[in-house]
Order: sequence, then structure tokens, then C-alpha cells
Amino acid sequence: MDANNPNLRVLVIDDNLSIHEDFRKILQAKAGEESFDEARTALFGDPSLPKESEQFELDCADQGQAGLTMVQLARSEGRPYAMAFVDMRMPPGWDGLETIERLWEEDAELQVVICTAYSDQPWDEVTKRIGRNDKLLILQKPFNSIEVSQLATAFCRKWGLAREVAGQLDKLNRKVDERTAELRGANEQLTQSNAVLVQTVADLEIAQSEILLKNDELERLASRDPLTGCLNRRAFFSQFETALNESREHGIELSCLMVDIDNFKRINDQFGHAVGDQAIQAIANCLSTGLRLMDIIGRYGGEEFCVMFPRTKLAEAAVLAERLRIRVATEAGVRMRMASRLAITVSCGISSTMHGARVPLALIDQADKALYAAKEGGRNCVMALDPIIDGANASDQAKPQVRRITPQVLSPQASR
Ligand SMILES: [Mg+2]
Repeated sequence: MDANNPNLRVLVIDDNLSIHEDFRKILQAKAGEESFDEARTALFGDPSLPKESEQFELDCADQGQAGLTMVQLARSEGRPYAMAFVDMRMPPGWDGLETIERLWEEDAELQVVICTAYSDQPWDEVTKRIGRNDKLLILQKPFNSIEVSQLATAFCRKWGLAREVAGQLDKLNRKVDERTAELRGANEQLTQSNAVLVQTVADLEIAQSEILLKNDELERLASRDPLTGCLNRRAFFSQFETALNESREHGIELSCLMVDIDNFKRINDQFGHAVGDQAIQAIANCLSTGLRLMDIIGRYGGEEFCVMFPRTKLAEAAVLAERLRIRVATEAGVRMRMASRLAITVSCGISSTMHGARVPLALIDQADKALYAAKEGGRNCVMALDPIIDGANASDQAKPQVRRITPQVLSPQASR
């Protein structure tokens, strides 16, 4: 049943069999009854209305019960009625209203014209009982043929349109369902992709922090002497330069200590390079653990170390240096694994910024001079570039003098 094949099935339920005949005459008029055609055109003015050749398909029942059976049968056969004309009074069976209620229980789409006489129930009582409804119209008896034809035509068209709309709605709903399913699928894929992305970002963050750790480790390795763990020469100079600049800016004295292992060549020749390395490690350990937190030590050369004492006057540095010298002399030999109790000593030279050094090398050079004097002075001692000038000689005033810090009595003469 569609636009080309409209549902023109009409059911008449009336206890008066002669009324059945009246409906047949109106709704199944033979071709050539021109007066009827004219009346139709005058009423509807629409040439697309069902032609007489498409006559209504009419069935009749004389009781509500029988009508219901026919509606049930029609639906089960898949060819439902588009509409029914139902009489109001049909003794001895159901009246029109009860019949309509039962018909709608069976087929909610069925449209009904209720046929009443003046003596029947008024319209407002009818609607009170079965509700106001666009599938129900009232037709007053005695009815005329044009009215009947008009109602049948209008309801059959309305039935077809309603079916069409329902079909379109159904199609739309299916499309909405399909699209919803597609969107849901796309959403699931997005959620999965997002989870993968989140995981990737987390992996990258872990990798990045590992790289940072490795970089730190590399930086540490690049700045350290592998044998002793002290700063290497490059890293030491870098920190020395910074500290020296700060000391100059704030006018605070900074001291520098050069340390050289005594008779290192003899240790190497006598015990081999492995023991020589151990001696260097033992001394580095003694020096490092004997420093204050702010002091910085670097391995300057083969058996040479350089220590920087920030914010430290020369006299204070001399005390620190002497303490370090004693620490090495008493502990370094004990810390040797391969040549226990080896006598290891160091010579130390100190200077400070009070002598006007503006760059690390100048200060180191001054400390080196003091160190040379310590070597000359019998080793295992500390010498400082002293500001105290003794001398009536005016030319002496320009040059600082080297002064022995280590008491002469403690100097081990045997090591010379
Ligand atoms: Mg009747």
C-alpha cells in the first residue's frame, strides 16, 4: 500500500442491512455515474483523488463483535482497513462506543466515523467516553452520499499519509541509529588513540628524565678526575674563576693552596705505578675529607693538587694548610692497601688575593712559588707568601716574602 496503490479498504458496521446497501451505492458507484463525478469534483476539485476505477473496497458487518473479527482478520492478513463507519445503536450487541473502543484496542491506526441519530448521545458525551481524537469524526443521520464519500476519501488519504510519515520517521530513526553507532565506534577509537597517546607521553617523560639523569652523570664524569674523584683541571678553573670574581667584587680575601706529593718519583720507581696511583688516591682522600664544605679541591697535575679557600684570609688558610699537611703525613700512608705504612708526605704553598692576583693563574703562580720554597725548605712543610716585609732595603718592599708556616722543629729532616 503506497501512493500508487492506496489503501481504500472501508468497513461498515451497522445492524441495519439496508444501510449496507446504501454505503455500497455511494462508495462503489459504477463507472459512468456522471452526477456523482461532478459532485466529487465540485467538492474536492482535485483530479488526483481516487478515480471510480479505484473504487473503495467495502466490507460490512451487522454487529460490533463481527466487525472486530473482520478487523482482526484483515490485520493478520496484512491488509488492514483504513477506516470504518460505525453505527451508534446496534442491539442486541455492543453499542457504537464500545465497538470503537474494542476496534482501537486491536488497530490503533483505524479511523472511525460514528453514525448517530438525534436521539443518540450528544458529541460531548461521546468524546468524554472515548477521548478527543483525530481518528474520529461524527456523521449525523440521515447522512447524504457526498458527505459519506468525502469522509471515506479524506480518511483513506490520511491513512496513506500517516503510513508514509511513519515510514519516513522509521527511515530517519534507522539513519540516526546507524550514525549513532558510527559515532560511538569513532569515539571508542578516539578514546583508544588517546590512551595510546597518554602512554606515549608518559614513556617520553620517563625517557626524558632518564636522559637528564644520564646528562647529570656525564656532566659529573666530565668534571671529575677519574682516579681521585676530585674536580679536574678544567672544572676547577671554572669554579676558581667564578669565586675569584666574586671575591674581587665584594673585596673579600680568597686563598689558594698548591699541594705536591713529596718524592713521588721515588714511590713510583720503588713500588710501581699501581702503588703510585694508590698514593695519589690516599692523599686526595685525606685532603678532600679534611676540607670545609665551601672549600674546593682539584687535581692540578700528576701529583699536584690545588685547593681554593673562598672568603679566607691568608693567616687562616695557613692554619688550614698546616692541618691538611699533618693529616696527610699521619693518615695517607695508613690508607694504602698495597704498600702499608708507606711514609707519604706533601709540600704546600699558599698565597691569597691580598697580593693582587686578578686571575686564577696569577694566584696559582704565587702559591707555586711558595710551594717551590717548601720543597727547597726540606719538604713536608707549608710555606706562605707573606705580606710582612722586613727590610731596610726599599727594593724588598715591592716583593712579598715566603714565610715558613710549619714549625721548624716538626720538619722531618730525614725526608730531604
Ligand atoms: Mg442502528
